[in-house]
Amino acid sequence: MLQYLLPILAVIVGAALVLLTRKKAYFNFKLLLAFSGAFLLALTLFELLPEVYAHLDPKQTGLYIMFGILIQIILEFFSKGAEHGHVHVHTDGEDFPWALFISLCIHSFLEGFPIHEHNDMVYGILIHKIPIATVITGFLIHSKFSKIQVISFLVIFASMTPLGTYISNHVSIFAEYISVINAIVIGIFLHISTTILFESGEGHKFNLTKLIAIVLGIAAAYMI
Ligand SMILES: [Zn+2]
Ligand SMILES: [Zn+2]
Repeated sequence: MLQYLLPILAVIVGAALVLLTRKKAYFNFKLLLAFSGAFLLALTLFELLPEVYAHLDPKQTGLYIMFGILIQIILEFFSKGAEHGHVHVHTDGEDFPWALFISLCIHSFLEGFPIHEHNDMVYGILIHKIPIATVITGFLIHSKFSKIQVISFLVIFASMTPLGTYISNHVSIFAEYISVINAIVIGIFLHISTTILFESGEGHKFNLTKLIAIVLGIAAAYMI
C-alpha cells in the first residue's frame, strides 16, 4: 500500500511547502533539490541498475538505458525542466500548459514502474517528487488558472506514478517486460539526477552546504 501512497504524499508535501513558505525565501529548496538528486541517483545505482543487468543482456540493457535518456531529453523540450526543478513556461494568458502537463504525466507514469513491494525505489521517488511538486505548485499559484484547473493538474499529476505502479503489477504484458521498462526508467533517472547535480553547481563555485546535502543523499540511499 505504501508504494501507492508515498508518491501521492510527496505531491501533498511539495504543495504544502509552497503554501506554508509563501512569500518567504526558498531558503532550503536548492538544498532539498541537491539532496533529492543525489539520493535518487545513488538509489538507482544501488538498487535498480544491478537488477536489470542481472535480467537482461548487458549491451541491450545499455541500449534501453540510453533510450530512457533520450526520452527524458525529449520530454524536457516540452516540460522545460520541471522534472529536475524549474519551470520556464511563460503563460501570460489563461492557456493551460498542456505540453508541460502531458510531459510531466508521462514522466511520472513511467517512474511508477520500478516501484514494487520490497523495493526502496519508492523512497527515491518520494524525495524526488517533493521539490518537483513544489516547483509545479509555485508555478500554478502564480499563474492565472482557476482553482479547479490548478487542483486537477495536481491531482492527475499525483495519480500518474501510482497508476504506473498499478499497471506494472497487474497488466501481464508490462509485468513481462518490467526489466526493459526499468532500464528505460534508469535512463530517465540518470538524466534528471545528474542534471540536478549539474545545475546545482552554480558556475562551479564551492558550496559546502550543497556538498554536504549531496553526501547525505548518497549516505541515506546507501543505508536504506
Ligand atoms: Zn534545467
Ligand atoms: Zn520524476
